[in-house]
Amino acid sequence: MRKIAIIGAGQSGLQLAFALLARDYEVTLVTNRDAEQIRTGKVMSSQCMFNTSLQIERDLGLNWWEDACPPVEGIALAVPHPDVPGGKLIDWSARLTRPAQSVDQRLKMSAWLEAVKLRGADVRICDVGVPEMEELARSHDLVLLAAGKGEIVNLLGRNAERSPFDKPQRALALTYVKGMTPSEPYSRVRFNLIPGVGEYFVFPALTTTGPCEIMVFEGIPGGPLDCWNEVKTPEQHLATSLAFVRKYLPWEAERCANVELTDPNGVLSGRFAPTVRNPYFRLPSGKTVFGMADAIVVNDPITGQGSNNAAKCTKVYLDAILERSGAAFSEDWMQQTFDRYWSYAQAVIKWTNSMLTPPPPHILELLGAAGQLPSLASLIANGFDDPRTFSPWWFDPAACAALIGEHAANPANAA
Ligand SMILES: Cc1cc2nc3c(=O)[nH]c(=O)nc-3n(C[C@H](O)[C@H](O)[C@H](O)COP(=O)(O)OP(=O)(O)OC[C@H]3O[C@@H](n4cnc5c(N)ncnc54)[C@H](O)[C@@H]3O)c2cc1C
Repeated sequence: MRKIAIIGAGQSGLQLAFALLARDYEVTLVTNRDAEQIRTGKVMSSQCMFNTSLQIERDLGLNWWEDACPPVEGIALAVPHPDVPGGKLIDWSARLTRPAQSVDQRLKMSAWLEAVKLRGADVRICDVGVPEMEELARSHDLVLLAAGKGEIVNLLGRNAERSPFDKPQRALALTYVKGMTPSEPYSRVRFNLIPGVGEYFVFPALTTTGPCEIMVFEGIPGGPLDCWNEVKTPEQHLATSLAFVRKYLPWEAERCANVELTDPNGVLSGRFAPTVRNPYFRLPSGKTVFGMADAIVVNDPITGQGSNNAAKCTKVYLDAILERSGAAFSEDWMQQTFDRYWSYAQAVIKWTNSMLTPPPPHILELLGAAGQLPSLASLIANGFDDPRTFSPWWFDPAACAALIGEHAANPANAA
């Protein structure tokens, strides 16, 4: 029986643990917070997952909240009009082919962590450092580092060539609320882009106390939405969130007349630099630790891809582990496994990073044209499930013009 150690009980570590246990691997899962600490702690993410990633969870029998969680049925984009107070320069919405869903990680990871132990994982609660990794490497065939944004992942080393930003590109904040007026006629991620200020998006989710909406703020550093350092209490956090939407996005403020926080821990603020790291590193003993998901590729949340990437990375790693059968998990195998994931992840990074700099003219034209061309809006909305589909037109002005032309000629858009 092969012994695999996983450090970190998040989207990737837990998902992989369940998948390996189902195939009779011996799994040790070491993480720094127990289920109760996760459940009663602060929110960690907005974790909106699209259909392909949800399907990976379904295939593993991990879709435990599918019926209880409100669906996200579409994606909308609005850009305020610079000259018309309260008006919109861009305003469209399109349905997703299959709904997305967001289950509060406090709910999901705490329940998964309890269950994975019952399924036979050796769960250890410990803040892992080098000595613990040495011990795990001595006693296991493979050690995977799935520690997300934990300090420890810096041991993997940053890949400067693949990481264009060396600083955070957005001041981030989350506000989990109840009582928001629903989006009609279908629920959606309502993405608002405010040039020079940042982005605000909001969508339905399931939290520890039932359905809610998650308000996500992405402030350009030094701008008016980079305002969370002064906020000291959950009440101030909610007040700051509401003051912002009232000032910049009146159509969003309208929905917020009766909102309240889901709970005092339903708030988060912080920032991090989008970073690609090396896939593995060697411990002082010479043994190798292999990184996965956010530990190796961490994106800004602006495109809502991190949990999706974590699920997809886990699937690639699982397949590679199973294919390896009895052979050693060599560094060559780690590199090849990472490369398989990278062939997907690089497209996500390229698109996500493009959203962090001011949009070039062809993107403004594309986003504006989508307001007149529903099939184009649908293409953009459904691209969130697989950002590889944005290439080449998102990046190449000529391909973008050709795409707009094709959709303009599509009779389905005539109405
Ligand atoms: C504000 C915000 C909004 C987001 N919104 C979305 C979204 O809408 N859609 C989306 O897909 N993604 C989103 N994400 C990203 C998503 O949450 C992450 O990409 C995803 O959780 C990564 O999974 P992971 O398994 O790599 O790491 P995580 O889920 O972060 O898990 C890491 C685990 O490692 C543990 N750990 C850390 N250090 C140690 C240590 N030294 N020893 C032991 N254990 C350790 C942690 O406690 C945790 O259990 C968002 C992120 C943020 C910050």
